[in-house]
Amino acid sequence: MAVLGNPDMLTRKINLCHINAHITCRLCEGYLIDATTVTECLHTFCRSCLVKYLEENNTCPTCRIVIHQSHPLQYIGHDRTMQDIVYKLVPGLQEAEIKKQREFYQKLGMEVPGDVKGELCNMKIPLDQRNGDAKSEDTTNKEAGEEKPEEDNDYHRSDEQVSICLECNSSKLRGLKRKWIRCSAQATVLHLKKFIAKKLNLTSFNELDILCNEEILGKDHTLKFVVVTRWRFKKSPLLLHYRPKMDLL
Ligand SMILES: [Zn+2]
Ligand SMILES: [Zn+2]
Repeated sequence: MAVLGNPDMLTRKINLCHINAHITCRLCEGYLIDATTVTECLHTFCRSCLVKYLEENNTCPTCRIVIHQSHPLQYIGHDRTMQDIVYKLVPGLQEAEIKKQREFYQKLGMEVPGDVKGELCNMKIPLDQRNGDAKSEDTTNKEAGEEKPEEDNDYHRSDEQVSICLECNSSKLRGLKRKWIRCSAQATVLHLKKFIAKKLNLTSFNELDILCNEEILGKDHTLKFVVVTRWRFKKSPLLLHYRPKMDLL
C-alpha cells in the first residue's frame, strides 16, 4: 500500500477516521473481524455478522445483489488480505480479539484452539464444512438435483475464466505435461485437485494439497475467490503449487 518514490508519502500520517468506512463492517459497525468477502461484489463484513445475516437473506447487505438463490454461504470466503490490513491499521485490535476469544473458550471450559493462540484468520467454523460438503461433487443426488437446472450446458465456457499455472512443488510427484490451464472462475480448489489427481493417476485427490503463496487452500474456495483474496494485485496467471499432503510426505 505504501507509495514508493516519494519519501513524504511513506511517513505521512493518516487519520483513522478517514479510512474507517473501508475497514468496518456495515452490519455491526465495528472493525472487521474475520473479514469475509462476497465473491461476486467484493463487499466485506465480519464473518459472524455475514453468516448470521445470510441465514435469513440471500443478498449482499451493502449492494443487495443476489449472492445465490439458495446457497449464498458458498459464495463468500475469508479475506485474508483485508483482515491483515485491518489488523495493521487498528492498533491493539488483533490482540484484543485473541484475548476475547480465549476468554470465551475458557468460560465454556473448552480447550483454546491452536488458531486462537496465534492467528485468528484461519479459524474453521463448522458452517464451512457443511457448505463444503454440499458443494463437492460427491453429494447425493437429491442435493445435486436442486442445483442442476441452473447449470449451463456449455461446461462453463461462458463463465469468467482464470488462467492458472500449476507447478509441482515436491519431488514425490511428477509435473504436469501442460501446467498452464484456463478454466471457469467458478471452479473450486477441489476441482483442480481432482484434475491433477486424474492427470497423475493418483488414487485420490485427497492425497494433494494446493497452495498459493505457500498457504494451503481450502477445497471449497472458488478460483475467483482465490484470485481476489490471494492474487488481487499480481499479474495473471495465478500461480498455484501442488504437493502431497504433509502427512503423506
Ligand atoms: Zn460485523
Ligand atoms: Zn455487495
